[in-house]
Amino acid sequence: MPKFIFCTGGVVSSVGKGVTVASIGRILKARGIRVSIQKLDPYINVDPGTMSPYQHGEVFVTEDGAETDLDLGHYERFVDENLTRASNVTTGQVYAEVIAKERRGDFLGGTVQVVPHITNEIKRRIGLAAKETGADVLIVEIGGTVGDIESLPFLEAIRQMRKDIGREHVMYIHVTLLPHICSTGELKTKPTQHSVKELRGVGIQPNVIICRSDFAIDDNLRDKISLFTDVEKEAVVPLVTARNIYEVPLVLEDFGLGKLVTRQLDLPDRTPDLSAWRALMRRIDAPKEPVRIAVVGKYVELPDAYISVREALFHACLANDRAVDIDWILSEDLERDKSFDRLTQADGIVVPGGFGERGIEGKILAARYARVHKIPYLGLCLGMQVMCVELARFVLESDEPNSTEFNPGTHYPVIDLMPDQRGISEMGGTMRLGHYPCKLVPGTVAARAYGEDLISERHRHRFEFNNAYREMLNKAGMEYSGLSPEGNLVEIAELRDHPFMLGSQFHPEFKSRPDRPHPLFREFVRAAAETERQGKQKKLPM
Ligand code: GLN
Repeated sequence: MPKFIFCTGGVVSSVGKGVTVASIGRILKARGIRVSIQKLDPYINVDPGTMSPYQHGEVFVTEDGAETDLDLGHYERFVDENLTRASNVTTGQVYAEVIAKERRGDFLGGTVQVVPHITNEIKRRIGLAAKETGADVLIVEIGGTVGDIESLPFLEAIRQMRKDIGREHVMYIHVTLLPHICSTGELKTKPTQHSVKELRGVGIQPNVIICRSDFAIDDNLRDKISLFTDVEKEAVVPLVTARNIYEVPLVLEDFGLGKLVTRQLDLPDRTPDLSAWRALMRRIDAPKEPVRIAVVGKYVELPDAYISVREALFHACLANDRAVDIDWILSEDLERDKSFDRLTQADGIVVPGGFGERGIEGKILAARYARVHKIPYLGLCLGMQVMCVELARFVLESDEPNSTEFNPGTHYPVIDLMPDQRGISEMGGTMRLGHYPCKLVPGTVAARAYGEDLISERHRHRFEFNNAYREMLNKAGMEYSGLSPEGNLVEIAELRDHPFMLGSQFHPEFKSRPDRPHPLFREFVRAAAETERQGKQKKLPM
């Protein structure tokens, strides 16, 4: 019988509830408990795959090809367990299922209602995630904050679960913010009192309150919160903004949260083994020389849009004993002759994934700069596609080569739709998604980086390398170092006679872990660190 920890948020969003939940997962896993995490999102979209990064940040892709909330990236990086399609549930999915049943006649003439039909479907999906992952403990994060109209059915469902499966199997953790008033230098508990009152109003009494704050939280404040909320003082857990997100599991464990949870859920109280995690933190804290990486993208004002890329670079730098210094360059700036000075300062260039035409020419310029000046380059999905377009433009001495995504009528469709993508008009969930095998060609940079000949990586794209251009670009210095097992799809392309210029059609960033950096990121950063050591940035104009 799995146990459940339900995490709600209070006061405001964006206080790091996802990282907190992921950290709870880590401290339980450190006790030998099998943990999985699920996120319930109250919006009506079926998944975030169709949402703009401005609305939602990154779309995280699971092994089984679900397009999910970026918090799942935190969960996988902290708990190091692969999640599935069942790990992210939205209101849209819940209603779609219930309405489909109603149309089939499953409700036998009954009136279909939020309680019990919607809440039952939510509970069914929570149970499914626990069953599918075989977890001893499923941690469930409820998106948004208590008091939102749209999260009510989720709160009602998790309230019922305590009665359904028994008190000793269910626990509620509420994550809030203590705002700081500058003029008086105080932290305020009132918003927390109100949000707990709201939670109690829907019948949920939290067992633990985690208080986020940018300043130290003294004992009096914890007393006060305890008094007003009926939560034991020892279960009012302060969580002051950490130097680094990977510190959060240690802060929570050192305060005693692991013990509180195991006691509440009647789990064996084993001593946690967080030695590897503590060693990781010591390595993070050790002084290191920086390496500067330019990330040339379209949503750079919003780093949440590239959160897995940022983390993968951080992991790879750590493995190379370097501090990461990311310069986020707006690709459109390069088109307007701006920001080139920043590109010339970079020891390495990343062009991440993306959709749509805006900023594409700037990305092609970044690829050209990297190729001509032999600056390490890592292309992720769209970044691989622009690397191929750039080389074709050079070979053909023309600006005509393109992806048909950006110029459907181009005479040189270097990147094009695969036949099985033609004629698809539905936008949601119809791309090439999730894990696919890839064979590496011995002797290539990619094969050396992985040290394996068959790998599996996660995809999220519609367009592919057009095989009609294989020979032409090969003659110009491009190797196809990763291919689908049948050999018909180019999954990795790299350049000969370059310190490191490689692009992958998949997204390696999703599989990077703090203690297990992704091989392509690791080798890219190694090459960038070498560029920095040699003081090699040419600071040349284009
Ligand atoms: N827009 C490109 C495609 O659909 C690349 C997608 C991506 O970078 N994830 O193929």
